[in-house]
Amino acid sequence: MHKINLLNIKCPLCGISQTKEYIFVKDMTVYKCINCKMMFQDALHLPASGDKCSETFYSLEQAAIELKTAIENERMRIIQGHINRDIKGMRILEIGSGLGVLGNMLKGRQAEYLGIEPSVSLYNASIRNFPYLESNIKNTYFEEARIDKDYFDLILMVDVLEHIPDPVGYIKNVRQHLRNGGILYIEIPNEDLLQLKGWVRRKLDFYFGYPTHPLHVSLFTKNTLSILLRSSGFRPVFVSQNSILGNKSRMKYLLKKRYSLFVDILCNLFNFSKLDLILQQGNLIGIGLRDGL
Ligand SMILES: [Zn+2]
Repeated sequence: MHKINLLNIKCPLCGISQTKEYIFVKDMTVYKCINCKMMFQDALHLPASGDKCSETFYSLEQAAIELKTAIENERMRIIQGHINRDIKGMRILEIGSGLGVLGNMLKGRQAEYLGIEPSVSLYNASIRNFPYLESNIKNTYFEEARIDKDYFDLILMVDVLEHIPDPVGYIKNVRQHLRNGGILYIEIPNEDLLQLKGWVRRKLDFYFGYPTHPLHVSLFTKNTLSILLRSSGFRPVFVSQNSILGNKSRMKYLLKKRYSLFVDILCNLFNFSKLDLILQQGNLIGIGLRDGL
């Protein structure tokens, strides 16, 4: 029988120190917990060239604002499908407010909005894009933002959690800022089938030849995202995959509106076949309810 060398590295999800080296490429090591199957990188030993992978386009042209607003509207439609409430008057916190597009859209729909953005360049870009949001966005880390507890109806975290080395501790902290019955919305890359995907990504030279983004420390699947919600005090309301390759607004935004006809055909193909979802190429969405515990 093949012997697995178990390592004494603590799993960031279940806390048990029984992990194995799962993928090892160049100076990147992805570990996997043999108990809960969580995949992760050691945050203290990330690949040296990780910084190269940061996004560089910050200013938004009008056309890009329209596409991003369409993406945010779709996101809110998914959330509203699970909560029976009008956006007007809702208290909403966005952790990682990025370019400010969701904030602008929510303010337009009369929500009470607060955004938190730790990156100076993204924060500056969001204020340049939407100057009136200056009093609604804080340029700081969530842990240092000093925001009200038991207050928000909805907290959104899009493309944040994969950067957090202690996801359970972080989400427990986030939970304190929701009122009882409040909703947490998480969206992250789906890293299921990582060995296969990593091989394809390396062949295509995505992520500078690494199997995943070098700065993504917590790598989730549908199952580990459900475990995270439950172990942080949430009732999972919806944990599923959302298509990226079948989403026209997203693809047109990513490709900066080039190859428009090709994108239409491709998106229709994926919507019809669901091939991207079968290959676990969508984004993961997790919606958790804060019960009155
Ligand atoms: Zn584990």
